[in-house]
Amino acid sequence: MVISDQSGAPLPAATGAAQDDAVEAGEMTQEEIDRRIAEARKFTSNECIFCSHESADFETNMDHMTVVHSLFVLDAEFVVDIEGLIRYPGESISIGNMCIYCTRGFASIEATQRHMVDKGHCKIYYEDDMDEGIDEFYDFRPSYPDYDPENADAEIDPADKCALLDMFGG
Ligand SMILES: [Zn+2]
Ligand SMILES: [Zn+2]
Repeated sequence: MVISDQSGAPLPAATGAAQDDAVEAGEMTQEEIDRRIAEARKFTSNECIFCSHESADFETNMDHMTVVHSLFVLDAEFVVDIEGLIRYPGESISIGNMCIYCTRGFASIEATQRHMVDKGHCKIYYEDDMDEGIDEFYDFRPSYPDYDPENADAEIDPADKCALLDMFGG
């Protein structure tokens, strides 16, 4: 029988737990995510993502969200696909039950919507490290001082390139 020296085994450090004090969505398994997506109801483009109010068309719905919920769209002047931009956070709400502004998770769509309306979190807002998916609905290149459509390929990613091709008719 050998009595080994047991020193040197580091205690599990107090890592983790630091980052996600509110977000539960990040802990879902892929299976759970798939199930949620399959079961989730999705908002139509006529439906308010904050209260499920249904409008006659997307424009009326935008009016509703802007007037009733003070919808704030960051850098709205650079949005190239407003319908997509609304649909995207709509899925965070309907599938992820997650506030699109503060990313808190909730148990249901209704609870998520209630939180956003109560807290005034009806904002489409993002930061670089928060939500990369949303930038496909924007085109900021015209805002660059040295923007040159002829030479734009150099620094754009494929998604932006598609938008650019669309813009110039392929
Ligand atoms: Zn509404
Ligand atoms: Zn919130």
